[in-house]
Amino acid sequence: MTSESKVELEFLGAAETVTGSRTVVHHRGKRFLVDCGLFQGPRDIRERNWESFPQPREISAVLLTHAHIDHSGYLPRLVKEGFKGPVYSSQATRELCEIMLLDAAHLQEEDARFANREKYSSHDPALPLYETADAEAALRLLKTVDIHQPYTISDGLSMELFRSGHILGSTYIRLVADGRSILFSGDIGNGRSRVLKPPEPPPASDVVIMEGTYGDRNQPRVDVFKEMQEIINRVIKRGGTLVIPAFTVGRTQELLHIIGCLEQEGKIPPVPVYLDSPMALDATELYLRHPEELQVHNGAGPLSCSNYHAVQSADDSMLLCMSHDPKIVISAAGMLTGGRVLHHLKAKLPDEKSAVLFVGFQAEGTKGRLLRHGLRKVRIHHQPIDVEAEILSIDTLSAHADSDDLMAWLVQLPEPRRIFLNHGERLALEALQYRIKTELGWKAEIIRQEERIPL
Ligand SMILES: [Zn+2]
Repeated sequence: MTSESKVELEFLGAAETVTGSRTVVHHRGKRFLVDCGLFQGPRDIRERNWESFPQPREISAVLLTHAHIDHSGYLPRLVKEGFKGPVYSSQATRELCEIMLLDAAHLQEEDARFANREKYSSHDPALPLYETADAEAALRLLKTVDIHQPYTISDGLSMELFRSGHILGSTYIRLVADGRSILFSGDIGNGRSRVLKPPEPPPASDVVIMEGTYGDRNQPRVDVFKEMQEIINRVIKRGGTLVIPAFTVGRTQELLHIIGCLEQEGKIPPVPVYLDSPMALDATELYLRHPEELQVHNGAGPLSCSNYHAVQSADDSMLLCMSHDPKIVISAAGMLTGGRVLHHLKAKLPDEKSAVLFVGFQAEGTKGRLLRHGLRKVRIHHQPIDVEAEILSIDTLSAHADSDDLMAWLVQLPEPRRIFLNHGERLALEALQYRIKTELGWKAEIIRQEERIPL
């Protein structure tokens, strides 16, 4: 092989962990970055965002599989460190990044302000990882690539996008480098979204880099419509409020669709539904602007119901908190790490008629985790709050493929020359590696942080 056609992969994140997706593709002396994610979670993992990125100016382009922050949220920092673009993604990913990166910058600024006020940071003064201006600069570098249209990004290197059914705009990226194909799965959807089109079959590729977030677990296959119907009817009948802490992209739109369907089918009354999160409202509007990504097309409001209210202003949100009428309130943040939902919980947790419904993973150390584990008193905004409301959870709205889904995805491919597993905890990846070996007889390699692999 000539040095001219040498291709190497370098894994700078999402190695034996689920965040910070960053893979460098070295090709003909140039460097291309596939995904540019933020490390999230416990402090020792988040600290890695502060390590300087190797030669950001020398990156020729960034390619994004989707807009989730663990895949796109490092971009403003990379720009701050000197990266000049371009950044390629699908159209919907590009538009979703506009919402998410500005929000991420805002959160970085707030965290730094809070750390300075409380003087808990070891840095003095505490600085944000990036600011709104950096996010705006990053957004100016975004370029749209059409799905299913091979696009040349450099001599001898082209990319093509395929829908992955994970969130709006999410894709696999298939690179062809001097005739060799490399498939990046990004995050793979599970085909059980009621809103998004299902994931496309992966295209045949020489090398596959595959996520394994739930490589060791299967989700229960329960009827979420029936569960929601029972919960809504029970809470509304006794005159309570159903508060749903929502993840703004994906799960909120699934919930709106499910509630709308239940109402249309006469299984629940036309209960008032309030969406109280400016970012979730923006994301929902964006979903509706991309019908080509959706499988729901029932008239004017596929993500709505007859008694739907968009709560924009903070004043209206506070008024809503004071209302005792039976209703559903969907509000962020999903893990109760901040946001308007905390005000709703302050008002409704002491009310035995009301209920809180968790629809997503609650990370360790969050109020969401404590409540879900049955704590009867929580502190919100420095006040002790008694928990009298019913605490419920539904685990089937995940946007991720589980272990069986991942296997079903992979088996559609002719055997790749090499398979690399990333984006998963060590145990999850080992379980997936074992299944691939025993069920398909294929070899899969678990990648390590900062490992560089010639292809
Ligand atoms: Zn994702």
